[in-house]
Amino acid sequence: MAGITTIGVVGAGQMGNGIAHVGALAGLNVVMLDVKQDALDRAVATITRNIDRQVSKGVVDQAARDAALARITTATDYAAFAPCDIVIEAATEREDIKKAIFKSVIPHIRPDCILASNTSSISITRLATSTDRPQRFIGMHFMNPVPVMKLVEIIRGIATDDTTFAAVQALAHTLGKTTSTSQDFPAFIVNRVLVPMINEAVYALHEGVGDITSIDTALKLGANHPMGPLELADFIGLDTCLAIMQVLYDGLSDSKYRPCPLLIKYVEAGWFGRKSGRGFYDYSVTPPRPSR
Ligand code: NAD
Repeated sequence: MAGITTIGVVGAGQMGNGIAHVGALAGLNVVMLDVKQDALDRAVATITRNIDRQVSKGVVDQAARDAALARITTATDYAAFAPCDIVIEAATEREDIKKAIFKSVIPHIRPDCILASNTSSISITRLATSTDRPQRFIGMHFMNPVPVMKLVEIIRGIATDDTTFAAVQALAHTLGKTTSTSQDFPAFIVNRVLVPMINEAVYALHEGVGDITSIDTALKLGANHPMGPLELADFIGLDTCLAIMQVLYDGLSDSKYRPCPLLIKYVEAGWFGRKSGRGFYDYSVTPPRPSR
């Protein structure tokens, strides 16, 4: 395949709209698909707002902004993916949903089109088996927020071929990102290291080693982390943190990955962090204050 010029994105949530944003600004044509038209409308509004912020900061000029927005088309019908060189799936983190999406995409794409998933934790090798092209299937794990975060973690499934890997690495560079490569084991590299650290911080809170402020201050100033682990957990979403711990616990069968009971309790309460207004911090007040 010559270089990638047209990308498809499935899922217009916070990750999908970020991928569309950086793709369009890098000069690629972007086809963004969601099951919900209102999700697409919201995504286009979010991308416009975020690029406008870059214009006001002088990072992007008006002509580049207009050209980028003109390169994004939206669709609810998979037939729109016909011209795509790669389709990146960034839908809800559920294996059944992702597998069903790949089944719907395949009849509409070229045989040489690459399929990628932005999954945070699901096995790339297993997702690849639900497609007709495991050799052209790969993990492309963007970080949140996509326009700001510099890393793309590339995950090779056991069958991923070198051509696909090279094409996806070149695409990440076109998007202005630095890559790291992970083999396909539970939660890959970033979340394998990061989320158990967050889980340990929740244990420290649960066991009364320190309160929320002490734990976050300790890691911010003592380990030079830009955010404390509990603040970061709220940002990622406590439901997502729990799901990743569960993938590590099930996938590696090692008790050191046992999710903290306090994390489970927060998720059971619907306290998912920033997105639900309450997690380790209460976001109904400014600045947010520790919730216990
Ligand atoms: P989100 O809930 O913001 O967005 C998911 C979108 O997928 C929604 O718009 C939903 O309508 C759409 N969707 C659901 N089913 C669909 C289907 N069958 N067809 C098309 N669209 C469908 O979620 P998100 O945070 O953007 O996460 C998306 C993916 O990115 C997940 O796999 C997640 O693990 C991964 N991820 C998330 C983060 C993060 O910090 N949020 C970071 C890296 C990777």
